[in-house]
Formats: sequence, C-alpha cells, structure tokens
Amino acid sequence: MFENLSERLGGVFDRLTKQGALSEDDVRTALREVRVALLEADVSLPVARNFIKAVEKKATGAAVTKSITPGQQVVKIVHDELIAVLAGEDEDPGKLRIDNPPAPILMVGLQGGGKTTTTAKLAKRLKERDGKKVLMASLDVNRPAAMEQLEILGKQIGVDTLPIVKGEDPVAIAKRAKTQASLGGYDVYMLDTAGRLSIDEELMAQVAAVRDVAKPRETLLVVDGLTGQDAVHTAENFDNRIGISGVVLTRMDGDGRGGAALSMRAITGKPIKFVGLGEKMDALETFEPERVAGRILG
Ligand code: GDP
Repeated sequence: MFENLSERLGGVFDRLTKQGALSEDDVRTALREVRVALLEADVSLPVARNFIKAVEKKATGAAVTKSITPGQQVVKIVHDELIAVLAGEDEDPGKLRIDNPPAPILMVGLQGGGKTTTTAKLAKRLKERDGKKVLMASLDVNRPAAMEQLEILGKQIGVDTLPIVKGEDPVAIAKRAKTQASLGGYDVYMLDTAGRLSIDEELMAQVAAVRDVAKPRETLLVVDGLTGQDAVHTAENFDNRIGISGVVLTRMDGDGRGGAALSMRAITGKPIKFVGLGEKMDALETFEPERVAGRILG
C-alpha cells in the first residue's frame, strides 16, 4: 500500500542520514521532496502542506541541526508527525460502542467499496474476538445478489443473517432486524445498507431513513483505500449527510497510493477504525497509527 511513498521517503532520508552535518537549507530541501512524495501518494494538498510545516518547525532548530545525528532526528520528527496525522481521537480504534445489547451497527458506503465483505469480516471478528452474538441484515433491496452474498458469507463464518423477505423496503428490514435481534438475544445487529456507484440523493435519503429508525451506535463508512482523495471526499459527503463514527479503508493490500489513510482524519475528523487487507474473512485489522507510520518509513 505504501510501497511507493515508502521508497521515495527512504531515498530522501538515506541521503539525509548519510550526510552528517545538516544545514537548515538541507532540511528544507529534503522536506520539499517529502512534500512531493506525499502529493504523489494522493495526500490532499492542505494536509501535506500542514504536515511539512509542522515538521519544518521542529526540524530546523539548532537543537536538531547541531546535534550529533541530525538526519536521524529529522526522521524521528517525521515519524511522530505521521502518527499525529494518522491517529484518531479514540485511543483504541478497534473498540466499538456496542454495549447495551442489541447494538445496531450501520454499514454505509458506495457500491463496490467492500461494504458487504467488511460487514461479514467485522461480524466474524466480533464473534470470535469479543464473543458477541451477531445478526447481519442486508438492506440492498435493489440487488438481490448482494442480499444473497451476505447470506452466503454468514453461513461461511457461522453468523446468522436475517431471512430475506421479498418486496420489503430497507426501513422495514431494519425494524425487523431490531425485533429479531431483541427476541433472539443478539448482542449486535449489523445493517448492510445499499450502495450506489456514486453518491446520489436517493441513496442518502434511504440511508438517512434507516439511520433514523435504527439509531446506530456506530456508523462505519467502508471505502476503497486505493481511491486516494476520492475516498476522503466520499467520507466527507457521508459524514455531512448521515454522520459517521468511523471509517474502514479496504484494499489496503493493493499497491495503490496510500494518501487516503493520511488525509482521512485531518480532513474529516473521523478515525480510521479498521483496514481491509484482502478478500478473505480474516483480512481485517485494527488501524494502528504507529504500525502504519512504521510501514511508511520502511
Ligand atoms: P460492496 O458493493 O461495497 O458491498 O462490495 P463487496 O463487499 O461486494 O466487495 C467488492 C469486491 O471487493 C469483492 O470482490 C471483495 O472480495 C473485494 N474486497 C473487499 N474488501 C477487500 C480488501 O480489503 N482487499 C481486497 N483485495 N479486496 C477486497
């Protein structure tokens, strides 16, 4: 995911650490290259600019340039700033507010972003790691295949799905899921909403109506991490219209540009909670800023 960015930064920092003595100009030149590398990774311009500004402020003082290992100190400052830009406000991103059963989790996003797959991955994780009894329901009434897909995944991971009733609208399904979750003693019920290829008013109105009846404890936006700034714009849109509590970035196993991860929190104020790292049901990880920063710096 961060291969290109990581390689570019590696080159810049190699030169810097080998150089020994550093002038403030050397640091500035290096940071200009870092900025270009960030923009090439599709980090949004204001985020890249603020990032460089913050690093420059800390890295051009005499304490750094006159130190014995100035290059390494600059790298350390970049590392810490990466964590700052990646970290959400919540201390434990993998923790969801799902006490008071049955807790509704609303899964939202565009079609093809990985919503249904992520719903099942997360259900499996809640079941296996947290010992939760989970019910999943597909609200994608326009795509019977998507409803069946969730059912198949449910069987595969041993998680119940709400029986499909033809002709029901998404709000009615959400209500039925709630009733079944209460009666069946479920801890969590997950509502996999319909996606569209692009954001449109009809999609948003439908998701908003579901949100109003379900009153979700968590609303997770699932978005393709390879789409860079588009992913961030999608998150902004969903947050403005629906209100999201966190983001799941999928396809982080791919070799695309990693900019979405770096811009997401700064632009939307919402934490990335999980990352999808493949098609398999176990390929979901908690988003850990320190580990990601480490990966970016190689
Ligand atoms: P939805 O339309 O948003 O519900 O998307 P799906 O869950 O159907 O996923 C679309 C495709 O993306 C499927 O082929 C998934 O297997 C694949 N997919 C989902 N998440 C990931 C991921 O993290 N990595 C990879 N490589 N593929 C993923």
